[in-house]
Amino acid sequence: MSPAPTLSVVLPCLNEGAHLERSLATLSGVLDALALEYELVLVDDGSSDDTWEVLVRLARANPRLRAVRLSRRFGKELALTAGLEQARGAGVLVMDADLQHPPALIPEMVRAWRDEGFEVVEAVKTRRAEEPLLARLGAKLFYPAFRRLSGFDLEGASDFKLVDRRVLAAWAQMGERNVFFRGMSAWLGFRRKAVPFEVAPRAGGRSGWSPWRLLRLAVNGITAFSSAPLQLVTAMGLVFLLFAVGVGLQTLYNWFCGRAATGFTTVIVLVLIVGSCIMIGLGVIGLYLSRIYEEVKGRPRYVVRDQTGPRVP
Ligand code: UDP
Ligand code: MG
Repeated sequence: MSPAPTLSVVLPCLNEGAHLERSLATLSGVLDALALEYELVLVDDGSSDDTWEVLVRLARANPRLRAVRLSRRFGKELALTAGLEQARGAGVLVMDADLQHPPALIPEMVRAWRDEGFEVVEAVKTRRAEEPLLARLGAKLFYPAFRRLSGFDLEGASDFKLVDRRVLAAWAQMGERNVFFRGMSAWLGFRRKAVPFEVAPRAGGRSGWSPWRLLRLAVNGITAFSSAPLQLVTAMGLVFLLFAVGVGLQTLYNWFCGRAATGFTTVIVLVLIVGSCIMIGLGVIGLYLSRIYEEVKGRPRYVVRDQTGPRVP
């Protein structure tokens, strides 16, 4: 195996076959101009198009390119994980394969890492791409909620980052199965620099994120970084206890005065409210329980089906 390169570029790909060759050519152009040793690590997240065939062909022609194919679609976070575990560089750059993360930003990021000594250089979105209304609305709700619950501000954060090997080593020790890369990177700390960028339009193909997948990512992110929803259930219980003591005393008082309450409305309303609070509470506990279950099963995070070149242990 060739000596470890200075920079590894990790790209998760799902059904990017149509434009991959063009996109990689653009990316290689930028990287070649940097005059440093680099490698490209591409992870095929179980694509159903010709992504893998394209990757194998490109890897044959380009010794700097390595490709890993997962056995099915594991999702972007796990495809990223697979790529990060394969990367050998002293610095690792993570970006999208659809060129929505502009390669033109790479020289500046590399400079901040190599010359200014920043260990995490993150590209921060100043403007989001054209997205469906639901996705925009979701992001508007998610980021403030995440900040409040976890204490980490991810507003504008993207998966376009350059991290030093030291950060990667620390990240590798976070053994959780439910990977939320953006949050984990914020949690790790280190010396960080933010570089602003505008999300470009897709180089081709289609976004792989359905509203349902985005919601799942948001719930995963919050449950992985905050137990506040669980405490919220406790707080809700306490409020209801106070309420119950008040109403209970009033009812007893009425009974002693011989004025037994006739109001069924109160009973119905109370039963409905308390019932829904209990169900929501159980649901929240269930969310965390299912996460514990996921972690306890200890399954591998992803399964590799194919690989070009030698495997990194
Ligand atoms: N991706 C992936 N697995 C998925 C969804 C996406 O590997 O389940 C990859 C995709 O190929 C791309 C990157 O993750 O390189 C970003 O995905 P996409 O462009 O679909 O997301 P968007 O830019 O719309 O947020
Ligand atoms: Mg994209």
